[in-house]
Amino acid sequence: MAKDKKDGKKSKKSATPFADALRAGPGTDLSAIDPRSTPGFDGDKAAGQDALADLTEPVSELQERLFAESRSGGERSVLLVVQGMDTSGKGGIMRHVVGAVDPQGVEITSFKAPTAEEKKHPFLWRIRNALPSPGMIGVFDRSHYEDVLVVRVHDLVPRAQWSRRYGQINTFEEGVVDKGTTIIKVMLHVSKDEQKERLTERLDRPDKHWKFNPGDIDERGHWDDYQEAYQAVIDKCSTDDAPWYVVPADRKWYARLAVMNLLKEHLEQLDPQWPKADFDVKEQQARLAES
Ligand code: AMP
Ligand code: MG
Repeated sequence: MAKDKKDGKKSKKSATPFADALRAGPGTDLSAIDPRSTPGFDGDKAAGQDALADLTEPVSELQERLFAESRSGGERSVLLVVQGMDTSGKGGIMRHVVGAVDPQGVEITSFKAPTAEEKKHPFLWRIRNALPSPGMIGVFDRSHYEDVLVVRVHDLVPRAQWSRRYGQINTFEEGVVDKGTTIIKVMLHVSKDEQKERLTERLDRPDKHWKFNPGDIDERGHWDDYQEAYQAVIDKCSTDDAPWYVVPADRKWYARLAVMNLLKEHLEQLDPQWPKADFDVKEQQARLAES
């Protein structure tokens, strides 16, 4: 990436290899991204699992620094938006990535079909209410993007209404970023064949029946429409303020490693600082010694 042979500088390794490899936007052709690929990582499953385990400590420290910063007035926060088809591994991201950091520093919100109360409000109302407080890592398991995904595929509101939402989402996210939130949007990109295998497993195993919903097979019937709706999201809503990352998700271990790295890279860019003591440390040490 950062090769600069012309002026003779040594090529430098990017500080954000996963973000560079996974960044999507207008011009990204979703159908050309192989869901089994592992961009930014050339090891196998065992190496990927080791690499994921090695990230727990650095990411936990960065999270704690972000939280500590907010205790002394810092206003920054992170919002990780996770989208994907049924069985794409959203739950695994919650357990294996988000679950690796201090639960006190994380706020997970799962968005289901809107309740009667939520339906009385504009679609971004429930999203606004769930934004992370300063110092927190907010995580959305599904999000406002459902309002241009499932809603578009099934015309749950008229086309004229959902088609305005892309612009509304961009304006909304710009405001969120302006207030100090770093937004990381992840699409878990699973293949139709892999989904069939995962649904088959859910049906074969009694301990997985609770995850199965007969409606998932109906949704699967709309696969191409969903891919088109995801493509539109990437075309219209991957902004410099709040970019989308397409994470190949047929290999669960890779998707988890990739999202953890995206989190780490963004936290490193934020570089949150431990607050300086607002007391004289020497003086307090002396007092403590005498006590
Ligand atoms: P799950 O994530 O499997 O618990 O399913 C949640 C369901 O809620 C999915 O079928 C989503 O499509 C649906 N859902 C989430 N947000 C919306 C929305 N804004 N409008 C309609 N359905 C939604
Ligand atoms: Mg489901």
